[in-house]
Amino acid sequence: MSPATKDTLARLRTRLSQAGLTYTEDNQKITSQCPACESEDPRLTAWVAKGRMEFSCSNGCTDNAVIEAIIEKHDPTRPLHDVFKVTWTEDKTPKLILPGIPVHDDLVALAAWITSVLRLDVRFPVVKASHHGVRGQEGHIELHRAGCDSIHFEPAAIVSSARRLGPALQWQLEPTDGEPYGFKDEHCKRIAHVLRLLCGVSSAPSETQETENIIGTFLQGAKAIEGRTTHGTTAQRYQAAEALKSDGDSRGSAWGQHYLIDSQTGEIVIRVGDLQEGARRQIGSSLPRGWLDARIDGLGWKRCRLDGHAESGRTGRAGGSHLRIDVYRGYWPVDEEGDDLLDVA
Ligand SMILES: [Zn+2]
Repeated sequence: MSPATKDTLARLRTRLSQAGLTYTEDNQKITSQCPACESEDPRLTAWVAKGRMEFSCSNGCTDNAVIEAIIEKHDPTRPLHDVFKVTWTEDKTPKLILPGIPVHDDLVALAAWITSVLRLDVRFPVVKASHHGVRGQEGHIELHRAGCDSIHFEPAAIVSSARRLGPALQWQLEPTDGEPYGFKDEHCKRIAHVLRLLCGVSSAPSETQETENIIGTFLQGAKAIEGRTTHGTTAQRYQAAEALKSDGDSRGSAWGQHYLIDSQTGEIVIRVGDLQEGARRQIGSSLPRGWLDARIDGLGWKRCRLDGHAESGRTGRAGGSHLRIDVYRGYWPVDEEGDDLLDVA
């Protein structure tokens, strides 16, 4: 499988999740509820052939109808902790169901999965995991969180056992974290599996994965503002800059910070200072000057200055309110090779 086709399948998973559709993956095929005809059972199969996504709906929906429906329902800003939700069966004694596992190299999604399943306060999300000490189950797992202390599992083997995971987790939680779910061993094995994937991708993230993780984590915790544009008149730019001011801080988390979904272009706009703070929290050290600029540039995002006056015209420039802030602006999720899903003729 070429990297390009793998990317396409990975993107489809995230798109389906953010469209509110559940899916399963088996043998490089994805099975999901059909977004076009919305049949009750998962009846849509998707796979990659010759570098392109192909679909088969048991009700006969065309590829174009399926793609249009996915794009229409897809909400790229839908928080991933909401996508990876824990649910229950409808039995008399409801049983816990863990969400579907993200793709093995999707750092943002794996971290969001763990945050959700361990019921952690989303203002202090898991950002990566490391495996220390000896190889395998005798080693020690560190779950790094943005804005608060790490959670440690030592030895790693305790994660696979409900009897041992519960107490180990409970005593390391923050006051605002939720009470842990009642896990059974089968759940713990799955949590251990996702933790292992997270340790793998965290140990050697590509520059792109690391930067996407910084933006992704920021978007999880910050508030989306719609109906403002950074491409308009000076008064509109002023309003956009005004809307990006945060509500005040809470223990250095992204909570209270804002980002824009540009009303003209759909781009995401984040204050440079806010994202730099997020990056520092996540990388855990001071960052060299220009580091984030270079990373952002590598994703195809731009750093630009937002300069606007509250009132346009001469009166505005003479004495009215004036705001000038630096922002990063670009599309999310980042699609480097254009929109493959749209490529089907
Ligand atoms: Zn259909």
